[in-house]
Amino acid sequence: MRVLSVLEESVVDGPGIRTVIFTAGCPHRCPGCHNPESWNPRGGEDVSVADLLAQIEQSGWDGVTISGGEPFLQPEELARLVDGCKVLQKNVWVYTGYTLEQLQAMHDEFVTSVLDRADVLVDGRFEQPLMDRSLRFRGSSNQRIIFLNKA
Ligand code: SF4
Repeated sequence: MRVLSVLEESVVDGPGIRTVIFTAGCPHRCPGCHNPESWNPRGGEDVSVADLLAQIEQSGWDGVTISGGEPFLQPEELARLVDGCKVLQKNVWVYTGYTLEQLQAMHDEFVTSVLDRADVLVDGRFEQPLMDRSLRFRGSSNQRIIFLNKA
């Protein structure tokens, strides 16, 4: 999986203490993007999903947040990562510039697997005119925090 960086002990990318994985590559190019260095799909480095899961298990935090960049640019690796996180019984949040409806319309087995297994999707492009610093866990008010796992 092409990964820009891994951040440990985050308290701002979802509830509790989390490991945050920033994936490389983003096609959305939102004006005002907080992380334009993430746009290059060849940025960062290749890290195997197995190695990421080993680090997550060793870190032992409450949850895992997968952000970017655009995580769904690597759907198969993302699906395997989310699956492995759930085996480790982690709470999993996934950030995306796509809307939930756009992801569902892809009818892709790996995208569907992520939507079936992740706990929360934070969806939608960053819209600068709708930026609101008072929002928790999202940058602009069009973005939604969607609880995928009803349990
Ligand atoms: S989706 Fe996120 S990473 Fe991609 S351009 Fe928009 S704000 Fe930046």
